[in-house]
Amino acid sequence: MGERGPKQSFTEVSCPNRSCKRFGMTSKGNIIANGTHEASCGEIRKFICKDCGRVFNSRTGTAYDGIRSSKEKFDMCIELHNEGMSVRAIARTVGCSKDTVQRWTHSAA
Ligand SMILES: [Zn+2]
Repeated sequence: MGERGPKQSFTEVSCPNRSCKRFGMTSKGNIIANGTHEASCGEIRKFICKDCGRVFNSRTGTAYDGIRSSKEKFDMCIELHNEGMSVRAIARTVGCSKDTVQRWTHSAA
């Protein structure tokens, strides 16, 4: 743990989820980075809204659903857990069961 350095928040990015209580709001500290994604046009930064769990990227501002590997899911699960997100929200965001999230967060604790 701790390899990624300090957490950053992104004041210029807002949540694209219309049902989120912080939809379209910047500088609220609810957006955290979730690494970058290599695309043909260059690097795309991925973000997560801590309030609703929506994952999106810097290019489109729309939901990013490209999480494939269990390693990536695991990392994201731990990251969100560290951010204080509930197990249910993590399961929904990452796309695995609550049991899996609980197992992973326990094993990382
Ligand atoms: Zn949100």
